[in-house]
Amino acid sequence: MNEREIIECITKHSSTECSDLIQSIGDDCAVVKKDEENVWLLTMDTLVESVHFNLAWHPPELLGRKTISVNASDIASMGGTPRFALLSLGAPKPVDDEWIHAFSRGIETASRDYGCFVIGGDTVYSPYGYSISLSLIGEAPATKVRYRHGAKPGDQIWVSGYLGEAAAGLELYQQNRVSMEHYSELYAAHLDPVARVELGKAMAGLKQVHSMMDLSDGIATDLAHLCKRSTVGARLERQRLPISTATLLACEELSLSPVSLAVRGGEDFELLFTASTAAEQNIRDIGHRLNIHLSVVGEIIEGENVVLHDLNVDGSQHFEILSYQGFDHFRDE
Ligand SMILES: [Mg+2]
Repeated sequence: MNEREIIECITKHSSTECSDLIQSIGDDCAVVKKDEENVWLLTMDTLVESVHFNLAWHPPELLGRKTISVNASDIASMGGTPRFALLSLGAPKPVDDEWIHAFSRGIETASRDYGCFVIGGDTVYSPYGYSISLSLIGEAPATKVRYRHGAKPGDQIWVSGYLGEAAAGLELYQQNRVSMEHYSELYAAHLDPVARVELGKAMAGLKQVHSMMDLSDGIATDLAHLCKRSTVGARLERQRLPISTATLLACEELSLSPVSLAVRGGEDFELLFTASTAAEQNIRDIGHRLNIHLSVVGEIIEGENVVLHDLNVDGSQHFEILSYQGFDHFRDE
C-alpha cells in the first residue's frame, strides 16, 4: 500500500456516526461542533528523525517551533485560531538535557506567537532517534470554516508566499551548502516555517473564497487532493508559479529544476485557496495589509486532472498531467 491507500483503509474502518462530527478524515483538520456558533478544529502531525529532520543541521529550538507551526498551518488552512496542544515526545537514551531545554524553548516561543497552550501529552523512550507528535486543537466560527471541497470551475487558484523554498533549503543542507547569506530565506523556510494563521482567517471571512488547504506535500499532490474533494480539475500556469530569486539561484547552483521544486517540493506550509474572480481585488488588498505575497497560479476547470500548462516563447503550448506526484512516505524507491 502507498500512503493514500493506508489512509483509505483506515477511513473505511472508521465510523462517522456521531452527531457532533461535521468533518471526519479527509481534510486538513477534523471539524467537531463546539456550540451553536463555533466548531473545534483538530489536527495532528508527526516529525520523525531522519525522515522529517536531521539533527546535523536542525537546531532543537527551531525544531520545537516547527512542531507547533506545521500543525498551526493545518488550523490556518481551515480559517481557524490555534488554541490547545498535546505533545508526544519520543527521545533516545541517554537524555540530552540541553537538547530538551532548547526544544522546549522553541515550543514555548511558537506557542506564544500563535496564542496557543501546550496542556498535556506523553514522553517515551525511542531507541531509533527522536519522534515528535503534536495534536493541535483550534476553533473557528462554524460559518467561516473553509474545506478542501467547495472549489468551483472558473475559480482562480491562489497561493501565498513562494513555492519550493523549503525544498530548496533542504537540498542546500543535504549538499552541505550552509551558512550562505543569500540563501537565508531558504534555510529559514525549511527550519522554521511560519503558519499563515491571519491570512487563513481573512480568507475564511470572504464568501467568494470557496476552498482552502495548506501546502505540505507540494502543489501537484495537494491541489490534486483539493480537486478530488471538490470533483473538479485544475490548470496550473507554469509562468505564474511564484518562485523566488533565491530559489532560482540555488537551483542553478545545484542543477535542479525550479519548476519541479515549486510543484513537487514539500513543506511549503503556504496556503492554497480558490476564489471566484469577483474576489480578486479584495484578496490583493488583504495580501497588502498583511504584507504577504499572493499569486494567482491557475484556474479550476471541469474534469478531474491537475494539468500544468506551459506557454513557450514561440507560442507553442505544452500540457503535463500532475496528479499525485508529491511526497509519499510509502512509495517504493
Ligand atoms: Mg494540511
